[in-house]
Amino acid sequence: MGLGNPERAGDFDVLYRRNMQLVRQVDHLSTLREIGLAITETLELHEALPIIANVVQGALDVRRLTLYELSQDGDSLQPLVAKYGKDLIDRERLAEDTVPARGSRFGDVLRERVVALSYRAGHAEALIPLIAKNEPLGLLVLEDPEDDEPFRDEEQVLFRQMGSQIAIAIHNAKLYALAVTDGLTDLFVRRYFDLRLDEEFAAARRYNRVFSVLLFDIDHFKKFNDTHGHQTGDLVLQQFARLLEKNTRDADICCRYGGEEMVVILPETSLEEASLLANKLCARIREHVFRGTSDQALSVTASIGVAQHHRSTQKSGDIVEAADKALYRAKELGRNRIELDGV
Ligand code: GH3
Ligand code: MG
Ligand code: MG
Repeated sequence: MGLGNPERAGDFDVLYRRNMQLVRQVDHLSTLREIGLAITETLELHEALPIIANVVQGALDVRRLTLYELSQDGDSLQPLVAKYGKDLIDRERLAEDTVPARGSRFGDVLRERVVALSYRAGHAEALIPLIAKNEPLGLLVLEDPEDDEPFRDEEQVLFRQMGSQIAIAIHNAKLYALAVTDGLTDLFVRRYFDLRLDEEFAAARRYNRVFSVLLFDIDHFKKFNDTHGHQTGDLVLQQFARLLEKNTRDADICCRYGGEEMVVILPETSLEEASLLANKLCARIREHVFRGTSDQALSVTASIGVAQHHRSTQKSGDIVEAADKALYRAKELGRNRIELDGV
């Protein structure tokens, strides 16, 4: 009796295979769950991509992976992030690795929308299309599993589901970026400023931290528009925004507050440091050669109100009110200058 019995041995085989399938399914589901949890941690694409790369590599035990984005015109696939062994590589360092999306193996996978597995000369590769809302977004390439085995056919289902998950995450991050970005200046919108100000305010209170705000208003911009035209005014606003981004740190949050008014949140920055930056920016704006619609050289000046978070403040809006008062004083005192809250 027992397993010596050929009938029982057959049953055992069936049960064993079934059990292995279930084990793999549980494994797949937990992989998907792990990836799902990780990629819903953030809506910011630059934060989401490294998380995706790390989690996928960890969950699937592959030595290399590269995540490509399909260009707007559908002609090329540009790498957004890659993981080669322990090295995380960002899009700047991958700029040269852009590949054509048509007439290539990668292109075929995107067109046919199926996972493609290959194994050549000991090199295993899985090409996974990233499809969200029925639109191809890009491609995930997995290479060289740690066990040196080829990818298995039954892994295709997992790869396809994972591809959908990642594609939706990227799609959502892009929608979010659109929603929080001002269409003209590419700075954050007012609504985003309000959210981030609340966050900074809460953190400042909880951890006794300092932060400051710079409020900008371009001088006599109505007259500027009247003289040079609204379109040139728009170009100046765009160049003004680039100037702000270029002269602030990554952690600073540059927003369009409304019209020709911009606001920058400076985390971990005292009034003294903020006033140094405001003075530098005021000079940069004054000296900058702006370009109009016919590339003519133009100049503008701006007035800046500077305020710092105070421990006694009750609500997040108080710092903006203080910066606004300082800005008003800067205008009163002749424009093209900065004024500090309470000084
Ligand atoms: P000052 O701030 O120095 O007191 O004078 P100002 O003329 O800049 O003041 P005001 O705030 O009254 O006018 C702002 C002008 O900014 C009016 C508007 O035409 C212009 N403006 C606001 N938003 C835009 C925009 O998106 N594009 C362009 N071209 N102009 C804009
Ligand atoms: Mg104004
Ligand atoms: Mg103005």
